[in-house]
Amino acid sequence: MDERSAEPGPASSGYPGDAEATDDFELAGVPDSFQRLWTPYRMAYVKGGQGQVKDEESCPFCRGPQRADEDSLIVHRGETAFVVLNLFPYNPGHLLVCPYRHVPNYTDVTADETAEIAALSQHAMRALSATANPTGFNLGMNQGESGGAGIAAHLHQHVVPRWGGDGNFFPVIAQTKAVPATLSDVRKQLADIWDSV
Ligand SMILES: [Zn+2]
Repeated sequence: MDERSAEPGPASSGYPGDAEATDDFELAGVPDSFQRLWTPYRMAYVKGGQGQVKDEESCPFCRGPQRADEDSLIVHRGETAFVVLNLFPYNPGHLLVCPYRHVPNYTDVTADETAEIAALSQHAMRALSATANPTGFNLGMNQGESGGAGIAAHLHQHVVPRWGGDGNFFPVIAQTKAVPATLSDVRKQLADIWDSV
């Protein structure tokens, strides 16, 4: 038996058959990238917290804009789409760009909505870069429950800031409930800087 494999600690990457890996930090950029957005086990966590949303009455992306920005964590309201902090972030500053209309698929949005979702995603990246200095981003849309969407009924584009090695503390953030105050602070930071980036 390999003596090293019996020892807990940083030598273990957590990936079966990855015995050669010696440093989690070095692995963060490759195995962590898009798997963080689409892995089923993490979506189960999101679904567990948000339930199954079908209609507009139970949809947080429809109800959010009806409340104050501070209460709904909205960072910016555009003409056809808005930017909101994810209540269940993969990373601090994890934003969602949503059309106001309750439509499930990227193929359902109009040309105007498509253009504004793209522009708001770019603007969100600039705002995050100005406030949190990330060294990378993940952008993406999960389509349908089989595609991993936590709220499949209402389209939303993820804008996730990334930092080197963030995979190491990522599970800690995702599984603690110490985020509401931080979410409120992050929302205000981004909203305040939005018009100047
Ligand atoms: Zn909706």
